[in-house]
Amino acid sequence: VDDAEGVDADRRVTVHFRTRPLSAAERKHGLFKVLFCDATYGHATLYYPAFRVLTDNTLDVQRFRFDAAFDADADNAHVYEATVRPKLPALFAHSGLLTVMAYGQTGSGKTFTMASIAQLLVDDLPIVDGQSKISVSVLEIQGDVIRDLSADADHSNQQQPKVLLDAKGLPVLTNVRELPASSKQDVLDYFRQGFESRTTRATAKNRESSRSHFICSIRLANPDQENGTGVEIKLVDLAGSEAGNDKKEHDAATLKESVAINKSLSALKECIRKSSGAATTTDGHIPFRNSKLTMVLKEALDPFAKRHTRTAIFALAAPTVADIPHTFNTYRYALALT
Ligand code: ADP
Ligand code: MG
Repeated sequence: VDDAEGVDADRRVTVHFRTRPLSAAERKHGLFKVLFCDATYGHATLYYPAFRVLTDNTLDVQRFRFDAAFDADADNAHVYEATVRPKLPALFAHSGLLTVMAYGQTGSGKTFTMASIAQLLVDDLPIVDGQSKISVSVLEIQGDVIRDLSADADHSNQQQPKVLLDAKGLPVLTNVRELPASSKQDVLDYFRQGFESRTTRATAKNRESSRSHFICSIRLANPDQENGTGVEIKLVDLAGSEAGNDKKEHDAATLKESVAINKSLSALKECIRKSSGAATTTDGHIPFRNSKLTMVLKEALDPFAKRHTRTAIFALAAPTVADIPHTFNTYRYALALT
């Protein structure tokens, strides 16, 4: 690879850990912070009470290293500049695909992080308002169902979006609108409308938005070459990772949905794991077809993709002692990707 931006820009997949401040409610309940991130060393450190805590008051500690780790006080601009921005020069030089994903339990900061990354990233794009050719699509994946979230999509019609892999192995989506945009504001409006539509629909069904995967794709045509390819950016706010781990769910529909979320998040992990490192050479098979999510994201996950692809994964974790089981899960998931 001829990228000159250093180690970080050369890596196909980078994994970044982030925690958020304690909320007012958490403080009120006396919950204290047990997760600390150190940006200098990329360490995330979790202090957790072991059984021993009952007897000698000591805490156990687990520390892991990621490509970057951000504590509660890290501001969005800093996070963006340290993670996503370094990938832009190569992205434009190679007409590539950049994917940014957020993984974590509900309430860990996925949407907060993705919304700010979207804003800062769009602001960084070489868009000339009124002149650039841009198209945006917004969709959600819930179980095996894909939905177009664009404001004017007719949700009652029978044309369900579908994904298939074409002869070249590239994902093709049907019945998902490509919304024409010509300014930064247009792109952000579509992104926001998609987010709102996801939330509204979820509320109407009395379910949380955290039970679907949200994907916004932004295609930016290359202004220099008439028919040349441009760049593509995918912003992915994954379903809450607790869904697949909560065995308490009683209602059958909710349980079935949780099984589907768990399946798609495991499929995503498997694909990323198998597409990096030694696994690629020993076993060429990457199970893209195991979920709709991995089919839609196939290019980003495929080490043999023809396009230049770069992926930044944010693993988000809540800071309190009550979140420890979920934080462990997020730790394990994120470590499996590195
Ligand atoms: P998720 O999408 O993972 O369910 P949210 O992004 O909605 O979580 O975050 C939960 C709450 O925490 C929101 O009120 C959000 O504004 C707040 N929050 C999350 N991350 C941060 C942060 N880094 N700094 C300040 N507030 C945050
Ligand atoms: Mg959210």
